[in-house]
Formats: sequence, structure tokens, C-alpha cells
Amino acid sequence: MTAVALQIAIDGPAASGKTTVARRLAKRLGILYLDTGAMYRALAVLALQTRTDVDNEDALLRLCGLYRIDVRLEPAAPMGFRIFAGAQECDEATLQSNAVTAIVSTVAAHPRVRAALVQEQRRIAGCAAVVMAGRDIGTVVLPQAPLKIFLTASVDARVSRRRGQLAAAGVDISVHRLREEIEERDRLDRTRRVSPLVPADDALILDSSALDAEQVVDAICAFVPEARL
Ligand code: C5P
Repeated sequence: MTAVALQIAIDGPAASGKTTVARRLAKRLGILYLDTGAMYRALAVLALQTRTDVDNEDALLRLCGLYRIDVRLEPAAPMGFRIFAGAQECDEATLQSNAVTAIVSTVAAHPRVRAALVQEQRRIAGCAAVVMAGRDIGTVVLPQAPLKIFLTASVDARVSRRRGQLAAAGVDISVHRLREEIEERDRLDRTRRVSPLVPADDALILDSSALDAEQVVDAICAFVPEARL
């Protein structure tokens, strides 16, 4: 019997710390890491560049066909992976720009767009042990993952963390706008028809409002031995 590579799903609302935690966890375990939000963001970048209507699912699917969203998991890369939209490599500042953030949840709400990206996410997870962060990893992408975390945090904690991350990536945004943007994205992600943001039935729910990233990683690591069995 071939052993199945370890899969760890980390889902949660915007700015709950998934990306930082998933990356550190993967590093500690010596396995790969992918932030699936970057794939939806890369498609949003393409939509902006080609002036594609983000309400037009057929047009977005055509974009996916024309410019493949290609991910290469490289722990030493600045984001922990590299992501290409066709021949163009997307960097963190581009993916996290306000313009991209404003449309990404609309792009991600289309069922056939999701199906295309989910297929690629499953292919990647089939190749090696991985920590995958997103909104629907435990419920849809990797429902068989032996360890599923649903990471939450108060809106205040999320706003302040996000502000720090964006400042580091060179993106400037006011606290007020950031709060509105986070709440609106949560609303869209939680209420969409397909793959809404909900914890999987067997997910461990972790509130990170009062914890730093290392403490969250420590808490998750306590469950890893069981998940490896
Ligand atoms: O994680 P991040 O905030 O970068 O995700 C950007 C957006 O991509 C989310 O607000 C959500 O609309 C979408 N997304 C998704 N499913 C995922 C990951 C992200 O719908 N697995």
C-alpha cells in the first residue's frame, strides 16, 4: 500500500492569520505550503489587466484557459511559492493590491472558476505533503485531509494584523477602509452559493485573537502526530 502524503487544511476568514501560520507550520514540519487565495488573486490580476467583467463567468473561464494559473511550491521564494498568470509572475504587492482585493471575492464566487482552480489545487496536494490555506480546503478541496484547522480571530485583531502585513508589502490603506473591506469580503465569502466559508464538521476551531503566530503553530503541532498515523 502506498502511504498518502500528509495534508493539512487551514481555512478561515480574511486576515485570520492563515497565511503566516500555514507557512510557518509547513516550515516546521519540512513540508510544502500553498496559499490558495493567491490563485484567485492571480486571476483577479488578469481580469484587471484585460478589463474582463468580473461578473462574467464565461469570460473569466476563458482567461483561465488562455493564461494558465501556474503555481510552483518553492519554500525559499519570498511567498513560499511562486505563482504565474500565463508567462507573467505575480509578486506579493500585486496580489495584495487594493484593486485586486476589491474584486477577488466576486471572481472567486463563480462555480466553474472555482472548479478549475480546485482541480489544480488537488493535483498539487497529490504530489507531496502540504499545508494548504484557503476558505474551502477542509470542506471541498481536501475533504479527506487528516488535520483541518478553522482559524478565526476578532475583527479588531484581523484589521490590525492585516494593516501590518500590507504596510510591509508596501500597500497603504486606512484602518476604516480595511475594516470595511474585511467585513465585506467575509460577507461575500460566507454567503456565496458555492463553497461558502464554513468550518468542516471535523475541523478544529482555533481562535487566534490573543495568540501570536508561533503559539498558533505550537497548538496545531500538538495534533500533527495523530494526523500522520
Ligand atoms: O486568503 P485571501 O484573503 O488572499 O483570499 C482572497 C479571496 O479569495 C477570498 O476573500 C475568497 O474570496 C477567495 N478564496 C476562496 N477560496 C479559497 C481561497 C481564497 O474563495 N480557497
